[in-house]
Amino acid sequence: MTYRHTTEFLLYDWLNVESLRERARFADHSRETFDSVLDTCERIARDKVAPFNRLADTEEPWFDGDKVHLPQASHAATQAYADSGMLAAAQDYEWGGMQLPCVVEMAANSFFSKAGIGVGGGALLTSGNANLLMAHGTDMQKQVFARNEFGGRFAGTMCLSEPQAGSSLSDIATRAVPDGEGFADDPLGPRYRLRGNKMWISNGEHELTENIIHLVLAKIPGPDGKLVAGTRGISLFIVPKKLVDVNGALTGERNDVALAGLNHKLGYRGIPNTLLNFGEGRFPVRGAPGAVGYLVGQAGDGLRCMFHMMNEARIAVGLGAAMLGYAGYEASLDYAKNRLQGRPVVGGEGKGGKAGKDANQPQVRIIEHADVKRMLLAQKSYCEGALALELYCARLVDEHHTGTPEAAAEAGVLLEMLTPIAKSWPSEWCLEANSLAIQVLGGYGYTRDFPVEQYWRDNRLNMIHEGTHGIQALDLLGRKVVMNGGRGLALLASRIEATVARARSMSKDAPELGDHATALAAALKHVGTATQAAWASGRPDEALANATPYLQAFGHTVLAWVWLDVAMCAQARLSARADAGANVSAGPREGAATGAPATPTDPHTDLLHGKLAACRYFIRYELPRVAAWLRVVETRDDTCRTMDEAWF
Ligand SMILES: Cc1cc2nc3c(=O)[nH]c(=O)nc-3n(C[C@H](O)[C@H](O)[C@H](O)COP(=O)(O)OP(=O)(O)OC[C@H]3O[C@@H](n4cnc5c(N)ncnc54)[C@H](O)[C@@H]3O)c2cc1C
Repeated sequence: MTYRHTTEFLLYDWLNVESLRERARFADHSRETFDSVLDTCERIARDKVAPFNRLADTEEPWFDGDKVHLPQASHAATQAYADSGMLAAAQDYEWGGMQLPCVVEMAANSFFSKAGIGVGGGALLTSGNANLLMAHGTDMQKQVFARNEFGGRFAGTMCLSEPQAGSSLSDIATRAVPDGEGFADDPLGPRYRLRGNKMWISNGEHELTENIIHLVLAKIPGPDGKLVAGTRGISLFIVPKKLVDVNGALTGERNDVALAGLNHKLGYRGIPNTLLNFGEGRFPVRGAPGAVGYLVGQAGDGLRCMFHMMNEARIAVGLGAAMLGYAGYEASLDYAKNRLQGRPVVGGEGKGGKAGKDANQPQVRIIEHADVKRMLLAQKSYCEGALALELYCARLVDEHHTGTPEAAAEAGVLLEMLTPIAKSWPSEWCLEANSLAIQVLGGYGYTRDFPVEQYWRDNRLNMIHEGTHGIQALDLLGRKVVMNGGRGLALLASRIEATVARARSMSKDAPELGDHATALAAALKHVGTATQAAWASGRPDEALANATPYLQAFGHTVLAWVWLDVAMCAQARLSARADAGANVSAGPREGAATGAPATPTDPHTDLLHGKLAACRYFIRYELPRVAAWLRVVETRDDTCRTMDEAWF
């Protein structure tokens, strides 16, 4: 079964995305229009991206002192993406958009991440940047900047991090001061001059587009000239690389934004990563140093505005991680089906038995070894589970925007709860999937002759950017599960309990689902009691010392829920097909256990059995880890917290 089949199963069978057309915003859509967007993206990814994935890795961006150079393939892929209309996919028709549901947009974008995450990448930064302006910008800012980003003329960045301020954004030091008399009357927005350094800025400099629109966090000094401590003092500015007029035309003036250097990375090498100096005076504007920037929203409200982009970005990061994992899964599955090595263990004769390995027999393909199947199943359960989670979150975004007021509010709360998981879980476990893919290939996996090592290197970024793993864990245990008296946690728990109840109701015909439900219910209960116990002393230092094991336990519980829900859908489809007399069997395919050639079955049936098997794997091999992670949480174990620095 292909990735496309799984995507369609999740979209249409599991999430029932076609029902969205009943809403006014999506009324022009149908399965056909959704499929045609998927077709287009799959084709562009196959033709313009996949063949250049290794090239983007080996031919890193380079700076000649004036311009940053990228391979021609990145230019072609960027253009093809812009031409497809995907930059504005979710926008209103009047903005050149397709009014596509977020869930379909995400599914369509997944083809690009899987084909080559660093080829012509950065499109999601551009659309995220423009989406933020649509939410918080003035009409003029939308027309001049967002519209040109949607059309592909301009690219976008997000400039938060500084050399001395990564996780702790409250410590940024970039300053913004009003730009002379009448600064507040500029039609593009209140005009400031910015000075400071921004580190790690993806796509901060290139020639892929006519202009680059930086969204920059900076602080406006108080009357005493000092920067306000904390996040309250942070504001958001549009800082174009080249200045533009009110029609979006370039004025011919370069803004005072200079590339100080490119960072040379482990992975994601196709995307230039930059240290940018704002306002160092290299490109003085109207004779004065300082990068010209236009305030977005209210002064002091910058971080809240930026989070509009970051929440979206975090789901996209999770999806990207899932797709890199999936790419490794596909590569290792293909390898395992072809590599001959070893002979099967075919039972034994009693204790210490002569386990039947007959050297005269031909070697078997490694996919026939149970341990290789274990590594493939682990990858499948991580990557397909992560994909399902991300699509579920994207479906929540649609509910948040177009549902009834009550459903929209609930979707918003669930999104708040799930965003740290959506970002961090695939980043950790689909990276583990990439490691297993390397393992399946043995020594070959460790070479650059096969793609799996690159997938691992590319994926290693995802636990670091957009809020590190540790920061996501603090957000979950320190904020999300306790916010509004635990309302979000209670709502999520009620959704999980509903799945458990439905699985139990199906257990007469599918007893395994009932067993899975029991295991999931126990894990959920444990999460609840551990959350209480973590906070029982009321001391954040005690509770949060084990925030990361909590994140892991929470994530695995959420994924077990997702898998059980997906499995129920698969089971229902199998039962319906059986009722209709299709070629289905309740158990594994004939021959699967013996290594004999399997009897051909309906491919769709294989897909459904595959979902049930991945769910079973996840519940039996992965979910039991939850108890171990939670043990240190509920006892507020102080091993890490009290470790003396001198003892390291
Ligand atoms: C390839 C790449 C692309 C990037 N792209 C962008 C971009 O486009 N725009 C942008 O603004 N930024 C970008 N970043 C920056 C990225 O978001 C930061 O690297 C990240 O937020 C971490 O900041 P830091 O590197 O300063 O690490 P630090 O904040 O110094 O963290 C180091 C370690 O300490 C831990 N830590 C820090 N504080 C705490 C705490 N309070 N409690 C517990 N643990 C803590 C962290 O979890 C981490 O493990 C990018 C980074 C990379 C590597």
